[in-house]
Amino acid sequence: MKSLPYFCRGEVIRGFGRGSKELGIPTANFPDSVVDNLPADIGTGIYYGWACVGNCDVYKMVMSIGWNPYYKNTKKSMETHVIHTFKEDFYGEILSVVMVGYIRPERSYNSLEALITAINNDIEEAKVKLELPEHLKLRDDNFFTNASSSSSALPPPTATTSETQTIMNGH
Ligand code: ADP
Ligand code: MG
Repeated sequence: MKSLPYFCRGEVIRGFGRGSKELGIPTANFPDSVVDNLPADIGTGIYYGWACVGNCDVYKMVMSIGWNPYYKNTKKSMETHVIHTFKEDFYGEILSVVMVGYIRPERSYNSLEALITAINNDIEEAKVKLELPEHLKLRDDNFFTNASSSSSALPPPTATTSETQTIMNGH
């Protein structure tokens, strides 16, 4: 996938209440402005990479890109599970991510148990792959270091894109 690694950030919005948190695997949702900017070659499926909430530490993550039921599955959604235990929810905060690699396509599962097992396998795969030196390098990218002061490096926000939802790639 030529667009990887792909850097983006945006505000964490409420999802569709699928109860991911109840499964022990909460997924932070990006707004449409971030999803709509995804390059065409980044299709649906499961990805791994690095994530940072606000201006905090950078953690490993897995991301699911799927079809958004809110739009009758005509638009994509991007849901990030940060591999870290947070004390509190972080709706409204800025989530910065770099998508580094692709794990697998989307699949449907016969049982909740099978789904949870698959996601836990994805998490294990992400943990191992991200230890590769070429991937560790991205954790230290100044995209994350400058997460809070990035606005100075960005073009002025346009009428339709708020500063907090600005997409960056190749920064
Ligand atoms: P929603 O349907 O609103 O996305 P979820 O059950 O998927 O609800 O929970 C997602 C929310 O949980 C995130 O928006 C975030 O505020 C919170 N959260 C807490 N820990 C994590 C984590 N490790 N990864 C992602 N989100 C987390
Ligand atoms: Mg979610």
